[in-house]
Amino acid sequence: MKRKIVLLPGDGIGKEVTTEGKKILLAIAEHFNHEFVFEEALIGHEAIAATGNSLPDETLSKLRVCDAILFGAVGHPKYDNDPSLKVRPEQGLLKMRKELGLYANLRPIKLFDELLGASSIKPEILKGSDILFFRELTGDVYFGEKGRKENGATAFDLMIYHRFEVERIAHKAFKAAQTRKKKVTSVDKANVLESSRLWRETVQQVGKHYPDVELEHLFVDTAAMKLIHNPRSFDVVLTGNLFGDILTDEASQVAGSMGMLASASIGDTIGLYEPIHGSAHDITGKGIANPLASILSVALMLDISFGLKQEAETVLHAVEQTLKNGFRTADIADSTISKSKILSTHQMGDQVLDQLNQIVITQLISNVNQ
Ligand code: NAD
Repeated sequence: MKRKIVLLPGDGIGKEVTTEGKKILLAIAEHFNHEFVFEEALIGHEAIAATGNSLPDETLSKLRVCDAILFGAVGHPKYDNDPSLKVRPEQGLLKMRKELGLYANLRPIKLFDELLGASSIKPEILKGSDILFFRELTGDVYFGEKGRKENGATAFDLMIYHRFEVERIAHKAFKAAQTRKKKVTSVDKANVLESSRLWRETVQQVGKHYPDVELEHLFVDTAAMKLIHNPRSFDVVLTGNLFGDILTDEASQVAGSMGMLASASIGDTIGLYEPIHGSAHDITGKGIANPLASILSVALMLDISFGLKQEAETVLHAVEQTLKNGFRTADIADSTISKSKILSTHQMGDQVLDQLNQIVITQLISNVNQ
């Protein structure tokens, strides 16, 4: 299979973790006889510094003709500390999602048994948790009208949803639930917000097409509580842009760390794959960022965009085996892990690569012996 992949490392640790993701893609191409052609492009603060635009036209043109995108993160302290700056890194990300029609963000919250001790939640509450979030990406307060009134003393952000936006992602969530435990939890704030009432009524209508899937509605505050009280009660969670943004960061604690959570942003054509974390200024340049979310994003790309199930499984298996062998980055190391097994970003990528090579060789030997 020949595929063109655009790398958008972006800012901060985005660069560090995408390097490891690419390493794994190259190994998969070699072992499974695929040709992955890479092109790199600018986004975020780096793009602003070079061109004055957080998503330059040149980047967008490359994205429109590729088969998949591996993205790192955008962000820089300069903008976090000065909200008055008009050109901002995150605008590039929002524009990219809108321009490419990436309306559904899938965030699998997969807990590896080896990381039960890395979370601040009790292992007996966590064990067996397996949640798939569907976060809507192109509507809500992120894209509604915003502004200031009364000489800047009043600010507003319009929370807006159109029925078609809810319908298209709801169908995707119900279809995914049919392949899992057949339960969708739709999260909104319908007791207060009109946009949430439209959300709920639309999800109920879509749900009628999937009688084999149980539909539950939760208010976002209750969902936030239940996520850490009883994470096993969730299967597929369907929610809007803002609530999904917040709940999935909370859910990262179910998986042990932000550094473990991968995501896929899909629409009707191209797919974008990225860790859910940001550019993490506090650890940028220290070489300690966890690259596993980027590597797990690669597994999602292989599966969803390229339909390469075996290759995706091989990457997942390599990550699992690396964790089983006791290797950790600092963010997922509990007190039982010896210092010698706490790895840098680069070393963790190499360990996963070693495991991947071993898995493929073992498989080859077993095929020859059969
Ligand atoms: P963050 O996700 O960057 O970091 C939150 C915390 O998690 C930090 O303590 C960080 O060190 C840790 N962390 C994150 N990823 C990690 C990894 N791979 N390994 C180990 N630890 C990890 O969120 P933030 O600090 O709120 O934001 C920093 C910048 O990132 C801001 O400028 C923000 O706007 C931007 N941001 C970008 C995206 C994106 O590009 N998709 C998402 C969120 C935040």
